[in-house]
Amino acid sequence: MSVVSIKPETSSEEETKEEKIYDAIIIGGGPAGLTVGIYLSRARMDTLLIEKAMPGGQAILTEIIENYPGFPHGIAGPELMQKMEEQAVRFGLKIEYGETEEVKVKKDKVKIVKINNKEYRTLTIILASGAEASKLEVPGEEELRGRGVSYCATCDAPFFKHQKIVVVGGGDTAIEEALYLTKFVWEVTIIHRRDRLRATKILQERVFANKKINFAWDSVVTKILGKEKVEGVLIQNKKTGEEKEIPCQGVFVFVGNVPNSKFLNKVVKLDQKGYIFTDDNMMTSQEGIYACGDVRKKLLRQVVTACGEGATAAYAAQKYIEEIKGVSYR
Ligand code: NAP
Repeated sequence: MSVVSIKPETSSEEETKEEKIYDAIIIGGGPAGLTVGIYLSRARMDTLLIEKAMPGGQAILTEIIENYPGFPHGIAGPELMQKMEEQAVRFGLKIEYGETEEVKVKKDKVKIVKINNKEYRTLTIILASGAEASKLEVPGEEELRGRGVSYCATCDAPFFKHQKIVVVGGGDTAIEEALYLTKFVWEVTIIHRRDRLRATKILQERVFANKKINFAWDSVVTKILGKEKVEGVLIQNKKTGEEKEIPCQGVFVFVGNVPNSKFLNKVVKLDQKGYIFTDDNMMTSQEGIYACGDVRKKLLRQVVTACGEGATAAYAAQKYIEEIKGVSYR
């Protein structure tokens, strides 16, 4: 590999460009991105993490994380993520806030990350931009968003005290969030398109034992009803075709996620849904660009897997940077 020539770039847009070249730019501050930050900062790589809102990712919206090793009684999502951020910053990680607009690759191995209309240059990029909640895409959903339609139980549950709500979905998120919601609401109906749940068994045991929760099996929501606020949902049984209205004041949608990868604009290879392909070392189809966490195409999306992949991506990126700079330890 050739040594990169680090020359300042001159152009008419100069005022929007930073001359320095970072060793690494991490896009996303969830468990994957923060783990990369911890590892690269400890390796003394000049690293910048870009976060669009608040570090922590989707884990920050989780009341309690029970399957992250080392916490026998679980740990609150916000607490775990705050500790990860604190740990990364303690080792010197810099965090910049803004939404990544574009990623570009130059011929001389330098990559460009554009945020807030400013271009940052770097030798490597670690994509850890995660995923966000999928929509149901039914009439009424967009119009009543924030007026009874929600994608986050920990954010909105207190608004539904003693009310009747529905939860859509049958995965881990839907079941965990339905259980959490029972602390606030009067009754929860879980609407799931199959006759059994996808969620892990321990969550199934809890949900079937909870007296506040009932189920509408084999059913899909076809419309969310209400003018100013949610008044109910129209559901259809997929086996019988029968339609029925369920009166409710809230609709919590947990039907999976979509990856945050639109800004990549074909810089790296994605699958049909937008998840990023990588090799075993987390390298994408583009040399010097790595991906980890929920945005990556993989089998299991958990905090623990995001952290593991973050560590691997960081180590691989470190080796690549040292090779470019001609300082590899062989
Ligand atoms: P998920 O596992 O993809 O489950 C989505 C659920 O929504 C599925 O039951 C799916 O039905 C249903 N669904 C999808 N599209 C639908 C539609 N248009 N209409 C109606 N129903 C629809 O998503 P998730 O529960 O958000 O979990 C995402 C990842 O995070 C998973 O890997 C999960 O294990 C992980 N996670 C882990 C924990 C934990 O470990 N404690 C907690 C939360 C999430 P089908 O089953 O028919 O496909």
